[in-house]
Amino acid sequence: MSSSSQPVPSRPSDVQRYLSFFSSTARAIRLVWETDRRLLVAMAGLTVVAGLLPAAMAVVGQRIVDAVVAAQQGGASTTTALGWVALEGLLVATMAGVRRANDVSQNLLRAQLGHRVNLLIIDKARKLDLSQFEDAQTYDQMTQARRGASTRPLSLVRRTFGIFRNGLSLVSYGALLLSFSPVAVVLLALTALPAFFIETRFADLGFRLFTWRSPEKRMQNYLEIVVSREDYAKEVKLLGIGPMLMERYNAIFHDVFGEEATLIRKRGVWGYAISLLSTLALYGTYAWIALSAMANAITLGQMTMYLMVFKQGQGAFSGVLRDLGGMYEDNLYLDNLYQFLETEVPAWPGTATTGTIDGDGIRFEEVSFTYPGATEPALDGLTLHIPPGRKLALVGHNGSGKTTLIKLLTGLYRPSSGTIRIDGRPLQEWDRVALHARVGVIFQDFVRYQFKVGDNIGVGDLKRMDDPAQRAAAAEKGMARTFIEAMPQSYDTQLGRWFKDGRELSGGQWQKIALSRAFMREEANILVLDEPTSAMDAEAEAEIFSRVQSLAEDKLAILISHRFSTVRMADEIVVLAQGRIVEQGDHATLMEQDGQYAHLFSLQAKGYQ
Ligand code: ADP
Repeated sequence: MSSSSQPVPSRPSDVQRYLSFFSSTARAIRLVWETDRRLLVAMAGLTVVAGLLPAAMAVVGQRIVDAVVAAQQGGASTTTALGWVALEGLLVATMAGVRRANDVSQNLLRAQLGHRVNLLIIDKARKLDLSQFEDAQTYDQMTQARRGASTRPLSLVRRTFGIFRNGLSLVSYGALLLSFSPVAVVLLALTALPAFFIETRFADLGFRLFTWRSPEKRMQNYLEIVVSREDYAKEVKLLGIGPMLMERYNAIFHDVFGEEATLIRKRGVWGYAISLLSTLALYGTYAWIALSAMANAITLGQMTMYLMVFKQGQGAFSGVLRDLGGMYEDNLYLDNLYQFLETEVPAWPGTATTGTIDGDGIRFEEVSFTYPGATEPALDGLTLHIPPGRKLALVGHNGSGKTTLIKLLTGLYRPSSGTIRIDGRPLQEWDRVALHARVGVIFQDFVRYQFKVGDNIGVGDLKRMDDPAQRAAAAEKGMARTFIEAMPQSYDTQLGRWFKDGRELSGGQWQKIALSRAFMREEANILVLDEPTSAMDAEAEAEIFSRVQSLAEDKLAILISHRFSTVRMADEIVVLAQGRIVEQGDHATLMEQDGQYAHLFSLQAKGYQ
């Protein structure tokens, strides 16, 4: 929770604000156009009708009064007045139909538009670089974008149409009012302006508050997750931190709410002051129109019409203002959304699918890497050659850079300096898909997909995902076949607790599933096991590694492990410390050297005696 560390967004100039306003609106309309053209056209048509009907009704109202007065004085027939009444009834019925049709269109659009925006967000998220994923600012943008995805774009479109509708009404009112007095038209417009500025200013403040507070809101989300996720429940209960988490959750709310409340109150006070202004204008004009009627300058019917037009005109104006204020917030949301969608993902230009020196294996040449924001490099000038077929073990204390090496090798991060080559070709020249197809990795924190067993293994190779023989073979290699086939639904067993009838596995069983998934990638000739066996006993781990050695004879394998009983089986052992290689060689050589490896090995061996 460090709102203080977040840069405070600078306040855009008013001109900038109004400009960005229109660009986002155009984008929202384009979004709707791409989602459902027919609905957009229908809504536009309905808007025009709904915009013009009120003025028509005002005119008919005038005709009714004038016809009645004329009939009273014997100058017109009763049927004329009744005819006008019937017409007004018809117009009202039409208006109701138009409103209903508009509601229906909006509801139809809401779900589709929400889906579309969510798709855009997910699609972008999937393309982000790992480093961008880990960047708090991008993450904030994504969270904010997701929060309003299903409401904001529609709201923007709805409000845009609202403004058009009210705008049309206003123009038609203005035309009618003009025959009374141009001054009245100007008056009508003038009383609206202050409200417009006040509205957008508060909307801006509101959104800026929302943006600054995003890290806190994210912490709140996170606290919710900690309390509500089943895989956290064990620890949360035992530690008894539930109340503490709730307290934090609550504190964040009150902290944020305090500022929001101030803003809401201020907005209320200003809003009232502004509305007093329009009331004053309304009743001033009211008196003026009444005086004109008394002086016989206008008919009674005209008086009714002008009063109605002026009153409704003000209503339409405040509708426009309300929509503008709301639209402003929607626009800011959309700005954020598009900023996120337009986040540049560093290009991966490579297209090569073969190396330049066949059978050269992997080479790290003076590779260094520093995490964004870190002061110390995680890898520091590392040089290493791993020929094909070699079984290499990486050892070293926690934080010595083992996982980082794997992340660089798989292209998830790019080296800060130095080159990584596969078969002679620098990593970035490889086609990313071809590169990933060559590597099968199981990370320490591999994913426990809440899918069926078969899919959990199958996703290792999408091309063969549904091939039962392939799955069974992979499960066999990963030592998962026996326990899978012992389950009543075998490969169709739902795993995890998120879904109905899901079955939870033990840590070791999950690891065997992950291992089978890696074996699914038959084309992969580089196999990486990043402590995948930590939840297994030493014996099972040794068995898995010897399996990798025998099953994947021609494959290059990299094993990260803290168990020296397994590590010793490797062809070559590399000892890392602070991102550098400190020892390298096979077990016998390293024991002879009597350095760090020999020390750690005998320490662990003693523990087993
Ligand atoms: P190992 O796998 O050997 O335990 P890592 O490669 O995970 O070590 O970490 C090497 C160093 O990089 C450590 O100092 C660790 O704190 C740091 N580090 C690891 N991951 C990140 C990350 N995503 N962002 C910043 N620093 C990281």
